[in-house]
Amino acid sequence: MNDYLASLDRALSKLPEIKGTGERFVPPEPKLLTEGKTTVLENFSAIADKLNRDPEHVFKFLLRELGTAGKREGNRAIFQGKFSSSVFFQLIDAYIKDYVTCSECGRPDTHLVKVDRFLAMRCDACGAHRPVSKQHAAVHLVKEAALKEGETYEVRIEAVGSKGDGIAKKDKYTIYVPGTVKGDIVKIKIKKITGNLAFSEFLEKK
Ligand SMILES: [Zn+2]
Repeated sequence: MNDYLASLDRALSKLPEIKGTGERFVPPEPKLLTEGKTTVLENFSAIADKLNRDPEHVFKFLLRELGTAGKREGNRAIFQGKFSSSVFFQLIDAYIKDYVTCSECGRPDTHLVKVDRFLAMRCDACGAHRPVSKQHAAVHLVKEAALKEGETYEVRIEAVGSKGDGIAKKDKYTIYVPGTVKGDIVKIKIKKITGNLAFSEFLEKK
């Protein structure tokens, strides 16, 4: 819960201050529900409305950044895999930076227009326009939340693999931890990451 509040604070502090009025552009909080192996963003439509963007554009952005598949169902969006609210906060924040706020005046009163094959943002407040860059902050933010080689983590061994190594799960990663058994809560050091697989060294049992 503290992590959640800390990342909420961070996400909010990164939102642009709108000069003059002291008004902040605050998107609705993502309301998440885990259903089996999927994550349901219950208020997806409300978020897209508040962002004043085409829901399909917001949805495709989320899919791409989460690196997963999903579908829209009524006002909800359903994503394969389990994702935390802090990930959604970061992605919505990145979306706002890339596709909603004007880089000149910082106001959210903008709209997207297609110029040839490219998207451009036009600001209704100051008249500025700029190409929308595909190189946005979100990828970086999500990667920050990912495992890192050489870092230590505390994980719970959820299963044992065919070669007898303990297996833990964290975010999208399956982590192999030699020398552990199911149910152990252990401190590990990540040695190597290959795609969604991570190999680790067992440091100590908790
Ligand atoms: Zn502007």
